[in-house]
Parts: sequence; structure tokens; C-alpha cells
Amino acid sequence: MSPPPRALAIRLLLAALVCAALAGCAPDRIQPGHLRLLLMDIGEADCMLIQTHDANWLVDSGETTSAPAIRRRLRERGVRSLDMAVLTHPHSDHIGGIREIGRGVPVRQILDSGFPLGSGVQRRLTDWIRREGIPYRRARAGQVVQLGSEVTIEVLWPPDQYMRGTESDANNNSVVLRIRHGTVRILIAGDLQSDGEARLLASGADLTAHVLKVAHQGSSDSTSEEFLRRVRPSLALIAAGRHNSYGHPSPETLERLERAGAEVFRTDRDGDLSLESDGAGVSLSP
Ligand SMILES: [Zn+2]
Repeated sequence: MSPPPRALAIRLLLAALVCAALAGCAPDRIQPGHLRLLLMDIGEADCMLIQTHDANWLVDSGETTSAPAIRRRLRERGVRSLDMAVLTHPHSDHIGGIREIGRGVPVRQILDSGFPLGSGVQRRLTDWIRREGIPYRRARAGQVVQLGSEVTIEVLWPPDQYMRGTESDANNNSVVLRIRHGTVRILIAGDLQSDGEARLLASGADLTAHVLKVAHQGSSDSTSEEFLRRVRPSLALIAAGRHNSYGHPSPETLERLERAGAEVFRTDRDGDLSLESDGAGVSLSP
């Protein structure tokens, strides 16, 4: 399934050289058949834009304070509306920005874990969805959703019955997605921690992916060896804040990723991470 890491590394290097040659590498129109993914450097929070020529998805929306930076990036990429906002779980660093983003960029549909955390930020989100009349869907393992005409997204988590009694039930019931684009697979792991990973592994789901969006800012309680053996990523993307007080990403997680043969890119060092797939391979322009 995965391309040999060396071949991928060569493609990454070529992409970086082409990007440098084009001086600035301004985003252009997305060709039919291509998929573009932008993991935003917005500090210790998560937001990812997924685009094809005919659809725009947002996965998570950062903190409330991240909204202006996210809206600027959406504007720069010509995003006028979002076909779907996936909110992986109800922590403020994942759902905080969506109402403010939605003020300027209409959100057509929302998919989230539905996990009832009962926090103020979740209540305000639920009220907003109701008030705006945004179609809402609760994510469940086994769902398959189409992104535009060319990309299929599998929902791998959460299960029908929420996990309870874990260190963080909100994190362990995160929405986990696997993007299928041609032969390319991209796994987005929410903030799943070790309990959630173990249950997901036991579910027998196909987790294989060329690209892994690492869970929970690369904290040590996620991304186990066993999990990586099943995913077999060539490329790992981590969203973490510069000099964050949590020590994310953790040295243990980075070591496990290295041992698994994944090349790691992180927003705290590399800034915005922009990845493009043509359905047969991926290239990354840091
Ligand atoms: Zn979380």
C-alpha cells in the first residue's frame, strides 16, 4: 500500500525545489483530480483545510482567537464557503473558531463526534448550529462521506457507544477520518489517546495510510508503536504551538515515528504545511 519511503522523500525534495524556484509558491487553482491539504500553523490548536477543485472541507477550527488567521488563509485560497466542517471533538482548541469563521464563510454542513462534554464552548456551538439552521450529522464509525466528486472519506471513529471512563472521553471519542484519493490514503486521528487507539485497533478497521495527521499535538499518550505498525505512514504531520508549555510534540512520540520510518513535519518548526495529492502520490511544500 505505502510507497517506499525513499521514493516519497525524493518527491518531497523535488516539490520543495520547484516551490523555491517559483519564489513564494502562491497557491494556484486546484486541478481536477488533485487534492490539497493545508495544516495551519495557528499555535497549540488544530485546523486543516482540505480542498479539491469542487469542494472545501475544514477539519477542526482552532481556538476562538485563531479565527482571523484561519479566515485569512481561507480568503487567500479562494474559499467562499465550506461544504463541510468536521469538528473532531468538543475541546476549545478544535471547535472554538468555527462560529467566528462561519460569520464570513458560510458552513453548509457540520459533522462532529456529538460527545456531550457540557462545556460552555460546546453549548454555544450547539446553539449556533440550531440558530443558523446548519445541517448537522453525528459521526459514527462505518460512515462513508463523499468530498466533491473525487474523494471519499471514511469515518473510522467514534463507535456507536461512546467510550467512558478513559483519561479524556472527549479525546478518545474523537472523529477519526481516512481520506481515500486514488491510491493515496491520509489518516486524521483527532485527539485520540491510547485507550481510543487500542479500541480502534481492536475494531479491525483498515488504518493503512501514507500520511498520518498525528493525534493530540504529538503528545506521548497517543501514536503507539502498535498503532504505527497498522498505519505504516511515510509522512507524519504534527500541529503544535511554538514553545508550548506542554512540551508537544513529545520526544517519545517523535522517536516512535522515526522508528516507524515516517518523515515528520511540524507546524511549530515548519509553519503551515501544504500537501498535494494527485491520487498516486503526495508532495509537500513546507
Ligand atoms: Zn482534545
